[in-house]
Amino acid sequence: MSETIFSKIIRREIPAEILYQDDLVTAFRDIQPQAPVHILIVPNRQIPTADDIVPEDEAALGRMLRVAADLAREAGISQDGYRLMINCREHGGQEVFHLHLHLLGGCSLGPMLAR
Ligand code: AMP
Repeated sequence: MSETIFSKIIRREIPAEILYQDDLVTAFRDIQPQAPVHILIVPNRQIPTADDIVPEDEAALGRMLRVAADLAREAGISQDGYRLMINCREHGGQEVFHLHLHLLGGCSLGPMLAR
């Protein structure tokens, strides 16, 4: 799978508001926020979809969740709560084929699925 725009963000080749980066993951603000807080947390290695996760990715995936919780606390949305979401392929509505965890919050997000 060819790389996506997220690899360029990770390498800082194109602009993005990067909030956190370490050896395994990068977090940056979504360019089209769907909530007052909308941050994407991605593994630095391009894992195209949730269906492509292998055991070697466990450290990065665990890091993504921990970083999401830290960023939620920093954004002041932990007490009210938030949503963590990963879309997979067509039925999941995935648009960028570099696995990413959406951190959404800052308002009541309503039901989990639009019907
Ligand atoms: P998904 O539909 O789960 O694949 O989500 C892709 C997300 O990436 C969308 O919320 C987009 O707004 C976001 N996105 C696409 N391009 C960029 C970019 N250059 N910088 C930040 N977020 C982006």
